Amino acid sequence: MTDQNFPSTEQFDVVVIGGGPAGLSAATQLKRQGVANVIVLEREPDAGGIPRHCGHFGFGMREFKRILTGPQYAAKLVKEALRAGVAIHTSTTVVEANEHGTLRVATKQGVRKINARRIIYATGIRETPRSARLISGCRPLGVMNTGALQSMIYLKNRKPFKHPVIVGTELVSFSAIMTCRHANIKPVAMIDELPHVTARWPSSLFPRLVGVPLHLETRLVRIIGEKQVSAVVVENAEGQRRELKCDGIILTGKFTPEASLGRSGHLAVDPATGGPVVDQYGRCSDPVYFATGNVLRPVETAGWCWNEGRQTASWVKDDLAGKLSGSEAHLRIGIKSPVIKYVVPQQISVPDLSTGMENLQLRFMQRARGELIARNASGDFMKWQLRVAPERRVLIPISDLGLTAQTHIQNNNDEIELCFKQSPQ
Ligand SMILES: Cc1cc2nc3c(=O)[nH]c(=O)nc-3n(C[C@H](O)[C@H](O)[C@H](O)COP(=O)(O)OP(=O)(O)OC[C@H]3O[C@@H](n4cnc5c(N)ncnc54)[C@H](O)[C@@H]3O)c2cc1C
Repeated sequence: MTDQNFPSTEQFDVVVIGGGPAGLSAATQLKRQGVANVIVLEREPDAGGIPRHCGHFGFGMREFKRILTGPQYAAKLVKEALRAGVAIHTSTTVVEANEHGTLRVATKQGVRKINARRIIYATGIRETPRSARLISGCRPLGVMNTGALQSMIYLKNRKPFKHPVIVGTELVSFSAIMTCRHANIKPVAMIDELPHVTARWPSSLFPRLVGVPLHLETRLVRIIGEKQVSAVVVENAEGQRRELKCDGIILTGKFTPEASLGRSGHLAVDPATGGPVVDQYGRCSDPVYFATGNVLRPVETAGWCWNEGRQTASWVKDDLAGKLSGSEAHLRIGIKSPVIKYVVPQQISVPDLSTGMENLQLRFMQRARGELIARNASGDFMKWQLRVAPERRVLIPISDLGLTAQTHIQNNNDEIELCFKQSPQ
């Protein structure tokens, strides 16, 4: 059971915003490492994050050496956190994150103002909704993201349609097919504008295996329907349009960090990731705040976020003990190529590089082969040969940048630019 009564105290050592895999693992690790007063604030009635409504298997190998369903995994994370002594406050939403570690929190008992020595921002991601995708046509019922579909089916036992079209071919799009199968919903098609499936092979075989026609180089142009969706108009690469009869649309993927607290508050937000700007410790532009898990960038798996949460806890604990390198001087990591989608961290605090993230995490906009080049004021100083594809993780060891104490002194508050030189395909 998670605690529903908000404590009367106003001062905490660490407040974690978001009770998903990243936030729960960070809080659990902090308690295990001896930090006294750690709470998790979760806006939903139950903690566990996205896995709570991913009813399929595929979670837990890294963390528990067992293959679990999403709900089993979420329950296990909550149990571990409670066992470690973390106080989890559900139905509790952080509505404002301000300077000096001050949060405004909407609890069941009303709005409260609290303070923390450190705050971990672990609010995850969401899929891009219809409005932000600028899809024209009518506004009938039956248009939703995978997350909404999953919570309807697994948490509320409701079936919003029988024959939807699935838009997108990211990993989560296949999760949408599995969710449909669980509820005996039969998708009429899966479409994507790209000429290839975004998720790794053999996912591309899955729609055919379960009888869902896959249409690549096909985009959704218009939605038709008065009360409920009755059809969609799609267009292929030659510009030919046709109508597909359906009673629903599942808009999958195109993830964006749930970073509205940062955007409406004082934290610097990176336009490339959509998440907060962080250094190699996940430390934000206000050094009281650290970020971890998918709010850092779209999108990683639960296991990856869980591990990030654990690592972030160690850096926060060190920071509380005054052992973390300062955030006053840093090297910015800039993107100088339209092919590179984002890089995390966006800056590296100096001079201590002995701890912190091991890698720069990059994503690319398109399939490409070529050379990633690191450049500073003196010219190109490091190159990596890469073959990249959209939504595939690319890790570049920070140690490859050869940042020595000497470099820091010369390049304090300087920028490293990342460029990409494409080879012919
Ligand atoms: C629809 C969907 C399906 C997915 N399927 C899979 C899958 O099958 N396998 C996989 O590995 N990954 C999947 N993912 C990726 C998923 O994001 C990660 O698995 C994992 O949940 C990330 O953990 P997290 O802790 O960073 O974020 P989340 O799990 O998203 O947790 C963030 C938590 O923060 C809470 N929160 C947000 N804002 C506030 C606020 N202001 N105040 C209080 N609480 C707040 C949210 O309610 C949420 O519980 C999926 C993602 C989506 C969107």
